[in-house]
Amino acid sequence: MTAAARVAPPPPQPREAALFLDIDGTLIPFADRPQDVVADRAVRHLLTALETAFQGALVLVSGRPVVDIDRIFAPHRFVCAGEHGSEIRLAHRRHHEECAPPPGLAGLRTLCRSLVQTLPGLLLEEKPHSLSLHYRAVPERAVELRAALLRTLETRPDWTLVEGNRVFELVPATASKGAAIRRLMATPPFRDRRPFFVGDDTNDEPGFVVVNTLGGVSVKVGPGPSAARYGLSDPTAVRDWLARTLVAQEARVHAPT
Ligand SMILES: [Mg+2]
Repeated sequence: MTAAARVAPPPPQPREAALFLDIDGTLIPFADRPQDVVADRAVRHLLTALETAFQGALVLVSGRPVVDIDRIFAPHRFVCAGEHGSEIRLAHRRHHEECAPPPGLAGLRTLCRSLVQTLPGLLLEEKPHSLSLHYRAVPERAVELRAALLRTLETRPDWTLVEGNRVFELVPATASKGAAIRRLMATPPFRDRRPFFVGDDTNDEPGFVVVNTLGGVSVKVGPGPSAARYGLSDPTAVRDWLARTLVAQEARVHAPT
């Protein structure tokens, strides 16, 4: 569906909906370097208020590792799916679960380090289960870089290339945001709720497909083709939409009976 065809999503009902929210490009604008991203006070306050209003049914779903999600939102620790679901922190669990990465991570890491040496301007983000090559500073190298990575993966079927906003990610083939959402939806407090998933990127598409299958609400942030059925323009619009949910709930709580 094209961006022009997408309308604003309906408001999620705090007692009936489960919120799944991507971070970069959805809640928080992109930064030149991923390690520079930090949540501002307003978004931290918004998310903790939503978590309370939705009785814990709020999940951050990201390509970032869980430790990095915790850094961004410190001191609060949200329920989350990190590295496209390779790591999951279920509700009410202090520690997160990790899937073992498939064989070959060390070899791919070596290859990516050599690419960074030969293509100046690339930024390699080394994560416990995956690798991200950011080319925000050298967008003209995208075609060359994609070709090199695809060649490498021809002999590594356990791995897949995920394209994001000025980033190529090498991710275990079994990991996806869709699988993470499906897994969490089978556990309390998400079970029996209607999933809402908001994301901005190619790596969010498996999440949109799963949410559509589950009868939920899929929301694409920004332009571009997508399986999502609804749209919002940018992180500011996402925050405004979420904040209106809280205002509406406040009004219901204080309405005279
Ligand atoms: Mg994103």
